[in-house]
Parts: sequence; structure tokens; C-alpha cells
Amino acid sequence: MFNSLSERLEGAFKNLKGEAKISDLNIANTVKDIRRALIDADVNYKIAKEFTDKVKDKALGEKVLNAISPGQLMVKIVRDELTELMGGTEANFNSSGNPAVILIAGLQGSGKTTFSGKLANYLKTKKGKAPLLVAADIYRPAAIDQLTVLANQIGVEVYAERDNKDAVAIAQNAINEAKTKNKNVVIIDTAGRLAIDETMMTEVANIKNAVNPTEILFVVDSMTGQDAVNTAKAFNDRLNFSGVVLTKLDGDTRGGAALSIKYTVQKPIKFVSSGEKMETLDVFYPDRMAQRILGMGDIVSLVEKAQEQFDEEQAKKLEKKIRRNQFDFQDFLDQLQQIKKMGNLKDLMAMIPGVGKAIKDIDISDDAFKGVEAIIHSMTPQERANPDIIDQRRKMRIAKGSGKQMSDVNAFMKQFDQMRSMMKMMNNMPAGMGRMPGFK
Ligand code: GDP
Repeated sequence: MFNSLSERLEGAFKNLKGEAKISDLNIANTVKDIRRALIDADVNYKIAKEFTDKVKDKALGEKVLNAISPGQLMVKIVRDELTELMGGTEANFNSSGNPAVILIAGLQGSGKTTFSGKLANYLKTKKGKAPLLVAADIYRPAAIDQLTVLANQIGVEVYAERDNKDAVAIAQNAINEAKTKNKNVVIIDTAGRLAIDETMMTEVANIKNAVNPTEILFVVDSMTGQDAVNTAKAFNDRLNFSGVVLTKLDGDTRGGAALSIKYTVQKPIKFVSSGEKMETLDVFYPDRMAQRILGMGDIVSLVEKAQEQFDEEQAKKLEKKIRRNQFDFQDFLDQLQQIKKMGNLKDLMAMIPGVGKAIKDIDISDDAFKGVEAIIHSMTPQERANPDIIDQRRKMRIAKGSGKQMSDVNAFMKQFDQMRSMMKMMNNMPAGMGRMPGFK
């Protein structure tokens, strides 16, 4: 995400290397490079110019302390300004009401249906809500099917009326249904068109007037850059929406949409979506995004993701097994599943400061674990629980069963052994010397 922008900004700061203080003269190239980097990331010229003017004023007005270099000071100023440009602080998302009504609008293909599913999942699992998903696309029966598939995955009900061609009535009926079924959030997925279209706009506006939504979220594909911003403007003029959802941030997005939308429509980005898995929805934090753009990583989000997946009971059990030197293949497999639930592996690694840049050209897909998983899946439960019984004959059978080479199985076994030896060593260390926390 935003790799090219990150690199260009880093290059811009290098202009200040070796300078003792910031002056009108030595800052000129940095400012120019920052502006170009923004424009190349598909940020509108006016926004880029205003941004760099502000950065320049701030930099010239700031006293350079001995402790930090002009380059470091510029990074800080740019980080603060990027945060401000994207909305400053995290925006509030209102899901209270009985039921709360969330209207989802956007062009076809922007990711509306996928996002509706993710939002329902988020509200259900993280906010303890009882959502009802509503398929209000009366033109494409396939849209109802798609929403139903997603809803089944997350265990949420869908309201649809296949033969009703009145989207407003469907939305109203859905709200009544929610009341009788005690659902406290209604998420209405509306029809989209490939481009701005009067009929579509009127339909969504009519639904809005009829259901008085708690939130109207405009969903936009971040890969479309300036177009995303123009579409946002058209939808906002008509709907006066309450927030933006940026989708497909997992792709090779340049950053223009994320950086310019708030400025252009004066509405905050509330969520970002990066992937097709139902769990890959994040609340948008401008400051964390700014840090990521500047290659500073996003440790706070990484820790939060880990905490969400953290199951205390399971951790205690695992701790005991490690202490008794009983960590086995099943435990290993369970750990892999937990990591995978946190999201796309490459995205996770990119949250570690400095790592994003290092791995940008390396293909790390979620398939990275596939080989190891296949090997463990080919073991019998007995073998998984007793790694030591796996002899040459068993290894051969496992290799065959998993479609892997004998050398792959050997390599994995060796790594697993090393891991266990390491755990053993840590167990035997005196307290305070690297022992796992909680070990007596
Ligand atoms: P809609 O027409 O607006 O309802 O869009 P869909 O939800 O059907 O999404 C269009 C396509 O984009 C589908 O193939 C989705 O799987 C895909 N998609 C949606 N959100 C994301 C995302 O955050 N990342 C990626 N990579 N693909 C997405």
C-alpha cells in the first residue's frame, strides 16, 4: 500500500541530509519533491500545493532543536500534516438506535456488498450487535445471492424480496422485519451502476428519505484515485453522506483517494477495507495511516489485531504445554490459524516499522503456510500429538499424502525440532533471563 509514495517522500527528506538547520534555500527541493510525490500519488494539484505550503511555513517557523536534525523535523511536520489532511482524529461511527439504519451507497464494483458483509461481521463480533443485512438491489438477482453467501459465512440473516421492484418498500419492510426479530442494526446494500447515473442516485436518495438512516456510508474503490474523489463529490452533493469507506487498500493503491477525499467532501473516512475475507475491515485512524505512509509502520494496530485474536484460556493451556515440553504439531497448526485470522500476512508484516519497504517486492501470500499445513494435515492425530514417533517410514507416507517432497518434510521436522529445543532452553533459564512471562 502506498509504496511508491512512501519511497518518494523518503527521497524528499534526504535532501536535508547534512544540513544543520532549515532555511528557505535548503527546504525548497524537499518541498518540491514532496509536492511531486503527492501529485504522482494522484493527489489533486491544489491539495498538494496547499499541503506543501503549510509544511513549508511550519518548517520555517519551527526552532530546530539540537537533538533532532532538520530531516527528522520535516518527517514529523509531514506526518502531522498528513494526519490532519486525512481528518485528524478517528471519526465516530454511530450504530445506536432501535434499529440503527446504515445505508450503503457507491458505484457497482466498488465493494459495497463485500463491505456490507464485513460491517455486519464487525458489528456482530466486536460491538455485540444483532445485524440484519438487506439486499436492496432490484436489478441484479445475483447481488442477492452474493449477499446471502457472505451472510451465511458470518452467521447473519439477510432480508430480500426477489419479486419486489420497489427498493424503497424493500428497505421499509426490512426495518419492520428487524423490529419484529429484535435486530438492532439494519444494513441496506443498495444497487450501484458502473458510473454516476440519475436513476441510481434518485433511488438511493428516495431510500434515504424513507428510512432516515443513522449513517450513510459511501463506498469507494481506492484504486481509482482522482475518480474516487470525483465520484465521492457527486454522491455527497446528492446524499450528504456521513462517512467514506475506502476499499481495496490491499492492492497497489497510490494513495490519492485516501489523501484527498476528506479535504474534498469534508466527510471523514470511517472504515478501510483490505481484502475479501470478512475479517479484513478496519476502523480508519488518520494518524496511523500517516505513519504507515511514512514507513514508520503501525505497531499499535498490529498489537490490537493480536489482542483481538488472543484467547486467554488457550494461551494458558499452550503455556503449560510449552513448560512441559509438550508443544506438538496440533499446537503449531492452531497457532498458524490464529495468525491467519489476523489478516493478510504481508499487510501484517508491513505494520512493523521498516519492514514494509523491505518486503514490498517479495511475494508473501497467505499461501505461504499451505505447504506446512498440508504436511501437518497428512499426519495422524497420534503423530501430531507425539512428534517423536515420526520415523522414516511415517515421513515417507506424510510426504506422499501432502504432495510434498521428502526433503520438504525433513526440513519442516528439523525446524520444528529447533523450535522445541529453543522453547526448552527458555524454560530452563533462570527467572528474568528470557523466560516466558508467567513461568514459575
Ligand atoms: P459492489 O458491486 O459494490 O457490491 O462490489 P462487490 O462487493 O461485489 O465487490 C466487487 C469485487 O471487488 C468483488 O470481486 C470483491 O471480491 C472485490 N473486493 C471487494 N472489496 C475488496 C477489498 O477490500 N480488497 C480486494 N482485493 N477486493 C475486494
